[in-house]
Amino acid sequence: MSEHTITVAGVAVDTRHWIGGERVASAQTFPDVSPIDGSTIGEISRGTGMEAAAAVAAAKAAFPAWAATSRAERARILHAIADGVEKRIEELSIVETTDNGALLRSHRRGVMPRVAHNFRFFADWLLKLEHEDFETRGHTNHVSWDPAGPSVLITPWNAPLMLATWKVAPALAAGNTVILKPAEWTPLTASLLADIAAEAGLPAGVLNVVQGYGSEIGDALTSHPDVRRISFTGSVPTAKRIAESAAANLTPLSLELGGKSPLLVFADADLDLAVDLAVEQYDNAGQVCLAATRFLVEESVAEEFTRRFVEKAGQLTQGDPRGEATDIGPNIHPLQLEKIDGFVQRAVAAGARAVIGGHRKDGQYYAPTLLTAVAQDSEIVQEEIFGPVLTLQTFATEDEAVRLANDTRFGLAATLATGAPERAERVTAQLVAGTVWTNCFFVRDLQAPFGGSRHSGVGREGGTWSFDFYCDVKNTVTSPNGWNNHG
Ligand code: NAD
Repeated sequence: MSEHTITVAGVAVDTRHWIGGERVASAQTFPDVSPIDGSTIGEISRGTGMEAAAAVAAAKAAFPAWAATSRAERARILHAIADGVEKRIEELSIVETTDNGALLRSHRRGVMPRVAHNFRFFADWLLKLEHEDFETRGHTNHVSWDPAGPSVLITPWNAPLMLATWKVAPALAAGNTVILKPAEWTPLTASLLADIAAEAGLPAGVLNVVQGYGSEIGDALTSHPDVRRISFTGSVPTAKRIAESAAANLTPLSLELGGKSPLLVFADADLDLAVDLAVEQYDNAGQVCLAATRFLVEESVAEEFTRRFVEKAGQLTQGDPRGEATDIGPNIHPLQLEKIDGFVQRAVAAGARAVIGGHRKDGQYYAPTLLTAVAQDSEIVQEEIFGPVLTLQTFATEDEAVRLANDTRFGLAATLATGAPERAERVTAQLVAGTVWTNCFFVRDLQAPFGGSRHSGVGREGGTWSFDFYCDVKNTVTSPNGWNNHG
């Protein structure tokens, strides 16, 4: 084991970058801290412009051969990566939980199998990706998806490997080479992914992983002229910075950003179902971009809804995310905790009432919170909090519900609880949201388009939309005339 390898819950993790098929250390490091107990897990290579340039150069050098690799061979390697992920589900789960504090049982049973599925899905989709040829005045139109080139993928900490592979898998399937930059608060599983990909036979330089603070290494990646795609998941301010940086080379961008999504509960809804959907919003300690954090409840059922919600939320267990019975773990970082509490205390000072929660707990935990008496134009209703903090407002009419639902700068998702299909159809048609769930939440299929409107993002990924983004889509028009009697 090298001096750069740390052991995390018995799993060896290399703390260096992975560039051109080799481990590369930086002169400086940064500490990676566990949100479970605030302990330092290890020191991670702290990338600079130099490592960014080296990773882009490696991705550029590897691109022609990978782009020319047959679809079948690319798909085979992606399936081999999925096999490697499946073999290491236990290891990936415990490392991810140590790093970001999300529930171990969710990682084991939901997230890591889904990581493997990301690779399988895009491998299989690649093999059936085609557009039917069509004719224009006797000429044939043929649509093809050409690999675009080196792609920079930048990801956040709330679901590190899941969100990284949701980009890495389609980018590799498309024939692109990748420079992955995981969040500095959760660098570990990206390093394990590099090991798994190498073991699966992915050629050197096709996947590169660079570690470090976004503020230090980000610009060098996103402004690089050899980068042909940037896919980013994270916050709105960072997205704006990246868009400015990418503008120099007109590098195409896909941006998956924050949200302030509503849960609309109509009086005709199955109230138990609505309460189940509502309590789910505390998942991952509220650190979910898609979370329906604004409850909009029809006046006539608001009291009963609140009563049942408080009862159900009271049954949630908060504590060590490694515990099988735990429902809510810690929040990611002391800074994030401070931010969450700041939002809540300012809201309460402005007149909001905490029906439950409203305060920090020992360690890095925040009490699950529901705030009422909040004004539509207040910070607590308008800004993304990214913690276990929800608000409840009431409405009198369907029109008012739609108006409140749409009245933020975001447009990522919306969830409806209603017993009337015609109402669901009418309301959905008026909502600004990339995804609308009716009487369900978080049901996601990789072939569906995923993304947000307004400040929630630019573009869509998923299924063919991912290939549209990661490829240079080409239309070839061929005349029936002009051939030199070859046939
Ligand atoms: P963030 O914007 O602070 O960081 C995200 C990534 O960007 C990190 O890897 C960071 O190092 C990097 N970064 C920072 N500055 C950079 C720069 N100048 N250039 C390039 N990269 C830079 O976001 P976060 O706090 O890690 O994540 C939380 C946010 O992510 C929330 O807003 C959440 O809603 C959003 N999110 C969105 C989705 C979605 O699919 N829409 C999914 C998960 C999270």
